[in-house]
Amino acid sequence: MWNGLYGTVEVRRVQPYEANKVYVCPGCHQHIPKGTGHLVCVPSDAPDLRRHWHKGCWERRDRRT
Ligand SMILES: [Zn+2]
Repeated sequence: MWNGLYGTVEVRRVQPYEANKVYVCPGCHQHIPKGTGHLVCVPSDAPDLRRHWHKGCWERRDRRT
């Protein structure tokens, strides 16, 4: 639902040392702990809607429908 609304999504890697907050992954609704490398996905049309994802959840997101 969230992805697919926007044309382009910029995906950036977050290195473990950059992850100094706990995030909730929208793919699995589990926490991404501090110090865990993951991805941040920023819709270019709506940068406020960026989300932090587990790497595996992002790669699997298209298979859930
Ligand atoms: Zn996840």
